[in-house]
Amino acid sequence: MSELNQRYDVVVIGGGAAGLSGALALARARRSVLVVDAGSPRNAPASHAHNYLGREGVPPLELLAIGRAEAADYGAETVRGEVVSATRLPDGGFRVVQADGGVTKARRLLVTTGIVDELPPVDGLTERWGKDVLHCPYCHGYEVRDRPVGILALSPMAVHQALLWRQWTDDVVLFRHEQADFGDEEYEQLAARGISVVDGTVTGLEVADDRLTGVRLAGGTVIPREAVVVQ
Ligand SMILES: Cc1cc2nc3c(=O)[nH]c(=O)nc-3n(C[C@H](O)[C@H](O)[C@H](O)COP(=O)(O)OP(=O)(O)OC[C@H]3O[C@@H](n4cnc5c(N)ncnc54)[C@H](O)[C@@H]3O)c2cc1C
Repeated sequence: MSELNQRYDVVVIGGGAAGLSGALALARARRSVLVVDAGSPRNAPASHAHNYLGREGVPPLELLAIGRAEAADYGAETVRGEVVSATRLPDGGFRVVQADGGVTKARRLLVTTGIVDELPPVDGLTERWGKDVLHCPYCHGYEVRDRPVGILALSPMAVHQALLWRQWTDDVVLFRHEQADFGDEEYEQLAARGISVVDGTVTGLEVADDRLTGVRLAGGTVIPREAVVVQ
């Protein structure tokens, strides 16, 4: 890639759903577009994406492949790479440098690098993330409807989470873990919805045949669960 002759109207940094949507709109607006994507969309661990009208249940990476093809139909280019710096040029444009040393220039940048989830340090949690360790009931609640679900309290919002997930299953257990105790009113709300609270630090997850089977507490007690919810 020559630093001198590569100049796009827009370089899109990050080719997830947001970046590719932008690239499609910009390419259709007759802008020259380059998408530089490191290839780690947030929902990559999930087998299917839900609530996306027209593509309900599509595998996340398949959705992005479709998006890349749609943007490419209008001339947007996509390359795999990580942008490590973007600096202003005297003419108002940007010089964009990738980890592999590739350099591109652009009149404008669209930064759509997403977010990275930070998971609590509980044994086995990272390995099950996006499979049966979940965060969003609207994304995955239906898939675990009527199943035993555990909410791992990581903030005072855990009570709200437990009450929310109760919409999908009547078997919700709230693991207080290392959170301060909840108030009387919160206990009343939980009891009204039949949600029990388990005291004690969660030390790990039990897994068998590539499925979550339980939540292990300090002391060794295992509470059977098929999905665990984190924030
Ligand atoms: C487990 C899980 C399941 C989910 N399920 C659903 C669902 O069912 N339905 C739903 O609507 N939403 C779901 N979501 C939310 C959905 O994943 C996000 O809303 C969506 O991914 C956000 O898109 P984005 O383009 O902003 O970011 P991302 O999809 O994260 O894409 C960002 C892209 O930018 C790239 N990038 C980052 N830094 C750089 C850099 N320096 N240079 C180049 N590239 C870079 C990344 O590698 C990545 O490819 C889920 C999320 C999770 C965690």
